[in-house]
Amino acid sequence: YSKEQYETYIHKMDIQEHLRSSIINGFNGFEVYYQPIFNTSCNAIRGAEALIRWNSDKYGFMSPVDFIPLLEESSLIIPLGKWIITQAVQQCKKWCGIIPDFTVNINLSFVQVIKSDIVGDAMECITQEDISHKNIVFEVTESGELENNPMVRNVLRSFELLGFKLAIDDFGTGYSSLNYIKQLPLDIIKVDKTFIDDIVEDDYAQAFVKLIVDLSKTIGTKIVVEGVEHKEQYDLLKRLGVDYIQGYYFGKPVPAKVFEE
Ligand code: C2E
Ligand code: CA
Ligand code: CA
Repeated sequence: YSKEQYETYIHKMDIQEHLRSSIINGFNGFEVYYQPIFNTSCNAIRGAEALIRWNSDKYGFMSPVDFIPLLEESSLIIPLGKWIITQAVQQCKKWCGIIPDFTVNINLSFVQVIKSDIVGDAMECITQEDISHKNIVFEVTESGELENNPMVRNVLRSFELLGFKLAIDDFGTGYSSLNYIKQLPLDIIKVDKTFIDDIVEDDYAQAFVKLIVDLSKTIGTKIVVEGVEHKEQYDLLKRLGVDYIQGYYFGKPVPAKVFEE
């Protein structure tokens, strides 16, 4: 083993220990941020995605892209994930008082789906808050797990039967056998930001989004496009018939209080 490998390992263990202690100490340093999801047909914000943030004394703000894999490796994503659901459901209940059909999207890790009673946990959180299941959207990332893991499919079916909405996240980046899309109980397809970055100039990206819009109309799902930062992108996507837009153009993820303002 090299010295660098060893140091990387020790650094990772240290972050994991800090994450563990944050979780044990009442989720200290964690906060759920919300990013607006804009409805193009009613020209208004009708939902938000819940996105976790972690601010620790030692490491400051660290991106979830870096700390979520560490939480997954140690299964700490299970208690944290349940806490995120509780927070997001409480927030959703509050915002439904202002906009009755407001939806909050919650990201699920496959570790939560495979290694915990995610359906039971979700039900527990919802029952406590007494809100309609259809106001909650669970997002799962596109991957081979969706198509091949019977346990994942069973969980998605249970969510469907209970009336929750389901979204497939990062669509177009992972395992994209279009055939499985029609077999899953999906309500929403979220097209990944990589297709949007150059969409104004890129004919392929435009054709891809158009294809997904047409496909979704046929199978009765809605489309969310992620990573929209400019007006030109928004105008084009609206013309293509995209239902919902998420991106810095309408707002970055922010704390609930800021979101409300
Ligand atoms: P994601 O689920 O695909 O979330 C969208 C990410 O894109 C967010 O990054 C958001 O801030 C970013 N984003 C949205 N619009 C724009 C834009 O216009 N431009 C740019 N450059 N970025 C944009 P974030 O919050 O850093 O989260 C990264 C990833 O971490 C998420 O990707 C998701 O995979 C994971 N994650 C975040 N929160 C949670 C959580 O509560 N649970 C789980 N399991 N994963 C989470
Ligand atoms: Ca997501
Ligand atoms: Ca995404």
